Order: sequence, then structure tokens, then C-alpha cells
Amino acid sequence: MSNTETKVSGFRVGIGTDIHRLGENRKLVLGGIDIPFDKGLVGHSDGDVLLHAVADAILGACGLPDIGDLFPDTDPQFKGIDSRVLVQRAMEKVAAAGFLPHNIDCVVHAEQPKLTEYKKSMAASIAAIVGIPADAVCVKAKTNEGLGPVGSGDAIATTVVAMVVSTNK
Ligand code: MG
Repeated sequence: MSNTETKVSGFRVGIGTDIHRLGENRKLVLGGIDIPFDKGLVGHSDGDVLLHAVADAILGACGLPDIGDLFPDTDPQFKGIDSRVLVQRAMEKVAAAGFLPHNIDCVVHAEQPKLTEYKKSMAASIAAIVGIPADAVCVKAKTNEGLGPVGSGDAIATTVVAMVVSTNK
């Protein structure tokens, strides 16, 4: 049976992942907040690996192009840009496509720094940027048990799942 005519409605889920290298002389920004650390994430933007995955998860749930397509790192206008601005612009596209973010679940994979005390403020920051209640965002933090580029402290990675709801009646 063909299902190609399915009307887009109800709840839809999306996934986003990202990884950025840690480097010297950079601020560490995760979920839109500054985290005290002696290194920061290297990137064309501010390197906010958590907001990038949040945006991709929500965009993916809506079937929209990802942030790499929307905001190419070859475009000088996005150099050093605050990732909160990128997410807000992505949310405008989400709203225009007829969707509202419903809830977001995030994992930050980082050997260092310890993020336990920042999880709530990262979640509150993401919720405010996306425009949903703070309790609709969960941020978890895990080490990589010393394995791979995350485990060696060379990078921070993220995995995010987001649910959106269609606003089309
Ligand atoms: Mg990124």
C-alpha cells in the first residue's frame, strides 16, 4: 500500500548530532551559555555544538534543510556568529513551515569540563531560545570513558532528539 500521500500532521521526531574540536583561546559556549573552561570549541560560528544539534533535530523533524544548508560555513556573514541567532532564524523557518517545537532531549558527550552543575541552565537557555517551557528541555552530560576524540579531550560532541507538533489543522 502506498503511503506517499500522507498528510503532515500531528507529532514528528527529528535527530541532530554535532562534534567540534576544542582549541585554545576560545570561549566555551554550550546551549547558549558560557561555561568556564580553559579551552573552547573551534568553529565558523561560536562553535556551540549543543545549539547546532538542537537546531538540526528540530529542522529534521520538520523535514527542513539542516543548519549547514541554511547557514553555510563558507558564508562570511556567519563568521563568529552567536549560535543563538542561528537557532532563532531556524525557528522562524520552523514556524513558517507550520510546526512548533514540543520537547527536546539532549546529550552532551564531553570528557571535560564536568557539566553537571550547568545542565539546568543549559536546558533553560535552550528552552528560552526555542520558545518552549524550561521543563520541555532535558540536558544530560556523559563522558566518553576516555575513548576516541571526545575521550581524549580533543572534542565535544552532542546527540539531540526533538519532537515537533504540526500547527496545521
Ligand atoms: Mg556545528
